[in-house]
Amino acid sequence: MKVVVLGAAGGIGQPLSLLLKMQLPAGSELALYDPAPMTRGVAVDLSHIPSRVQVAGFTGRDPSAALAGADIVLIPAGIARKPGMERSDLFKFNAGIIMDLVQHCGRVCPKALIAIITNPVNSMVPIAAEVLTQLGVYDPRRLFGLTSLDVARSESFCLDMNREVDAPVVPVVGGHSGLTIVPLFSHVAEHYTDEQLRALIARVQQAGTEVVEAKAGAGSATLAMAYAALRFCLSLVRAKQGEADIREYAYIEGGHPQARFFSQPMLLGPDGVAQVLDYSPVHSVEQAAIDGMLPTLNQEIQQGIDYARNVLQD
Ligand code: NAD
Repeated sequence: MKVVVLGAAGGIGQPLSLLLKMQLPAGSELALYDPAPMTRGVAVDLSHIPSRVQVAGFTGRDPSAALAGADIVLIPAGIARKPGMERSDLFKFNAGIIMDLVQHCGRVCPKALIAIITNPVNSMVPIAAEVLTQLGVYDPRRLFGLTSLDVARSESFCLDMNREVDAPVVPVVGGHSGLTIVPLFSHVAEHYTDEQLRALIARVQQAGTEVVEAKAGAGSATLAMAYAALRFCLSLVRAKQGEADIREYAYIEGGHPQARFFSQPMLLGPDGVAQVLDYSPVHSVEQAAIDGMLPTLNQEIQQGIDYARNVLQD
């Protein structure tokens, strides 16, 4: 199994690479790419951790050598938020980075599973889909936007409130920006009032901003994101190794009648998404949140598609 991290020297990339070095199955390869010159050093540093995971670092302007033979590509490359910024403010910086990196993925490892962490995820995944389509290698089952941090946060807030719940399951649907993030706390056995549900939804929607403000200009979520990306990556690895019934949540194409891309539960298989799962029942408070955010989600999807089509036409 070969896992590649694009953006490996960054705030997310480094702790994610550390966790992967420690937790990928024995015999795996881990390739770290980042234009930052320190990337080879990050790989050397990690290589001193005793595990049967081979790690190599790549820098320069071309990620092709890192991507050769990749099974899974995780992308936390690009600019992160500072206080006062919305995820959408990152579009103009990160759209070009994602286009370039996904073009290399499509050419070098067209069968790899690609998981995009870079924000705004709602627009970056449609950009990636357009790039892969133009290269003739797009398979919606293999492309994911990472929303596993929203799931982890929802579970964590649930644990903070309910000491008797061991492993809460809180599906998060919609997208990964502000109002488009809709956690379904009604799925937790505990009964919440309408007011509590509204407050919990708002807390998860604002959790990223809470971290950005607390870090006071030094970046956004990195450590919990690294954990959430590890968790998602290990699910992809287990599914690729043939384990059945691996349930995950991610932002993918298909499965929702009113948005081309949507975060939702799914079963994973060796080729990526094996089956999109139903997330009903949905409480009326949650349904109102979904209905209310769909125009925003669709606008962010369209922004990505338009950007990619314009660039690809030139
Ligand atoms: P960071 O600035 O610390 O690291 C980004 C890294 O990307 C840097 O090392 C940089 O050199 C590298 N990079 C820049 N251009 C590149 C390119 N062309 N190819 C490969 N690497 C390149 O940022 P971070 O805190 O690690 O965040 C990375 C991204 O993840 C941001 O866009 C952030 O908004 C996003 N994020 C997503 C979630 C989520 O839930 N999906 C959560 C937190 C952060």
